[in-house]
Amino acid sequence: MNPLLATHFVVSGRVQGVGFRPFVYRLAQHFELNGWVQNKLGQVEIHVEGTPQHLAAFATALLNEAPPLSQARILEQMAAPVTGTSGFVIRSSAGATQPDIHVPPDYFTCDACLAELFNTQDPRYRYPFINCTQCGPRYTLIEYLPYDRAATSMRHFTLCATCRAEYENPLDRRFHAEPLACPQCGPQLLFKHDKLMLTGESALAATVAALRDGQIVALKGVGGYHLLCDANSDLAVMRLRTRKMRPHKPLAVIFPDLASVQRVAVLSEREADFLSGPQRPVLLLKQRTDSLLSAQVAPGLTEIGAMLPYSPLHHLLLADFAAPLVATSANISGEPVITDNTEIEARLSGVADAFLHHDRPIVRPADDPVFRMSANQPRPLRLGRGTSPLEMSLPFELETPLLAVGGHNKNTVALAWKQRVIISPHIGDLGSLRSMTVFEQMIADLQKLYNMTVTRVVCDAHGGYASSRWARTSGLTLDTVFHHHAHASALAGEYPDMDNWLIFTWDGTGYGEDGTMWGGEALYGSPGKWVRVASMRSFHLPGGDAAGRAPWRSAAALAWETGTAWTDLPVDNDLVQAAWQQRINTQQTSAVGRLFDAAAAFTGLTSMASFEGQGPMWLEAAARGDACDAIALPLNRDKQGVWRTDWAPLIAMLTDTALSTSQRADLFHTSLAQALLAQVQVIQTTYSIQCVGLAGGVFQNRRLTELVVHLLTSNGLPVKLAQSVPVNDGGISFGQIIETGYRHD
Ligand SMILES: [Zn+2]
Ligand SMILES: [Zn+2]
Repeated sequence: MNPLLATHFVVSGRVQGVGFRPFVYRLAQHFELNGWVQNKLGQVEIHVEGTPQHLAAFATALLNEAPPLSQARILEQMAAPVTGTSGFVIRSSAGATQPDIHVPPDYFTCDACLAELFNTQDPRYRYPFINCTQCGPRYTLIEYLPYDRAATSMRHFTLCATCRAEYENPLDRRFHAEPLACPQCGPQLLFKHDKLMLTGESALAATVAALRDGQIVALKGVGGYHLLCDANSDLAVMRLRTRKMRPHKPLAVIFPDLASVQRVAVLSEREADFLSGPQRPVLLLKQRTDSLLSAQVAPGLTEIGAMLPYSPLHHLLLADFAAPLVATSANISGEPVITDNTEIEARLSGVADAFLHHDRPIVRPADDPVFRMSANQPRPLRLGRGTSPLEMSLPFELETPLLAVGGHNKNTVALAWKQRVIISPHIGDLGSLRSMTVFEQMIADLQKLYNMTVTRVVCDAHGGYASSRWARTSGLTLDTVFHHHAHASALAGEYPDMDNWLIFTWDGTGYGEDGTMWGGEALYGSPGKWVRVASMRSFHLPGGDAAGRAPWRSAAALAWETGTAWTDLPVDNDLVQAAWQQRINTQQTSAVGRLFDAAAAFTGLTSMASFEGQGPMWLEAAARGDACDAIALPLNRDKQGVWRTDWAPLIAMLTDTALSTSQRADLFHTSLAQALLAQVQVIQTTYSIQCVGLAGGVFQNRRLTELVVHLLTSNGLPVKLAQSVPVNDGGISFGQIIETGYRHD
């Protein structure tokens, strides 16, 4: 007989709330091992005793067969004294003083639950809130930690005898599945249409009928409400657009399955994998020319935002409707998604015809995450349900906890302490009371969840941002970071091994060191010590902050700066030009985002934008990638020694009606890419560059990004792009943390 040995393991990762301890229990049973497993300080400790063969097999299976959500890592594995213990037990959590808390995100429905959902023999057949330790909501229903049913919004539901038996059985897949529920004891649907109220199957059937009838239904999901309508019906989509006063903004579409996505979009294997992966994101996909989707879903664009069902309710609805549905966040423009039954009825009664509610409270909002493939990888444009709170490691150790309040648009906040940083889900644009309420709630909430109290705050150097105003009056020790330093540091923070960066921070304006609005800058150095080495020719933009929504203003500014005749203005040219000449309500800017706006107006694509980024997005969509020679743009040094690219030669091309819109859009992209390369090459003569980085909202543009990456790599220059944190202002909070951390080093 083999001698008995003992091994002690310490495992880390996302091992709380994902059924890791029951998994260890089952594994120990399987390999006939004695011992125990215990949560300790946010990690899991395991002591097992058995034959050497069984111990070895256990160690292998511990990693290879661990619940996929756990992302388990073995930190320690060492021989231990044999204690002769009999049986295997799950010990209760060790009462730790400072547990290493990990908040799990919301998980998509697992295959096992999905099989039960559609199995007529199962007690949870067609139950819209089925879940287990491997799936279901987490972040959006946790009230406080440690993660336990009593600390979630499921505390309102008392487990029935059957559920309780599963909940208490360590061998069951639902052992300690905190949101556990069944039709007898769990949350229920409620359909409301005028005076009509329906529950259960009738609620679902009425929803499907309303959607078939072309109506708009507000549906309560995991992290908030969606507005749904038939995505194949022009009439339904136009009804939604008119009522939401959103004439052009692209709408996300949820599909029953991958096959139905393939019928409307070109889908690579990589994209298919990502679309059906654990984050269940909205992924931007190239739309097929024979797509039957209403052209009103994404006017002016060649891509659509597609997602697959991620909650049992969505699975049921899409299976019954059997066709794609528009699923756009139910909110007032730019605000966080609405989560509350009463509030949605009060605020969107003029938009939705009917409501599909349920009675499981959403503790905090989480919008759908949005990704776009660029340079061979899915890149986040928005963090949300399933992806956040996003945790990253810091390349330094903070002495005191630090809060970063982010930018103004696409706001996120970040909380950092020691070597950890947590980035919140997308909050939204901070221009409204509700946004600020959610912003403040998020700040309080993250500190509560992670058992952390901040004493320091970092905000944007732009004093006018609502987030900056909040920070200044918070009573916390204040640091400020320039917008584009934050963009550069956000990227550098994802690649802590790199140094001597040259990072292009191109976006649609942010307050710069010299008091002008930056947005076309090349910054050299590393976090904490950025030097502006290149930029764009600056120009005076009429209309101040309103310019972002009015591409004609950018076009007019470029025309006036260069003395070009351009009169395609929606307002009286002479009047606006006279004000501009006197520099009334103008800003000096070098923002590439505004050059894109100008190009969109010059080419006649759009002179007034109905949503942020419309000009640049439509311009990108108009470009077809036809081979064309770039227009060489002059590059000269200004008095401060900053290299500046002059965009002036682009204007004649952009206004040349002998060229097609797509040719002009193409030329604009290739010329800017070449200009970027030219800047790199001239800066290389004085500075040693280890890596070129692309940061800022302009690089959401896939065409430009891929052109630049191709040019740089074929010239032997390594390029890095954001991969975990949004390249746009959603990444500012993370960048503020990185920048501040290095500064205090
Ligand atoms: Zn499940
Ligand atoms: Zn039950």
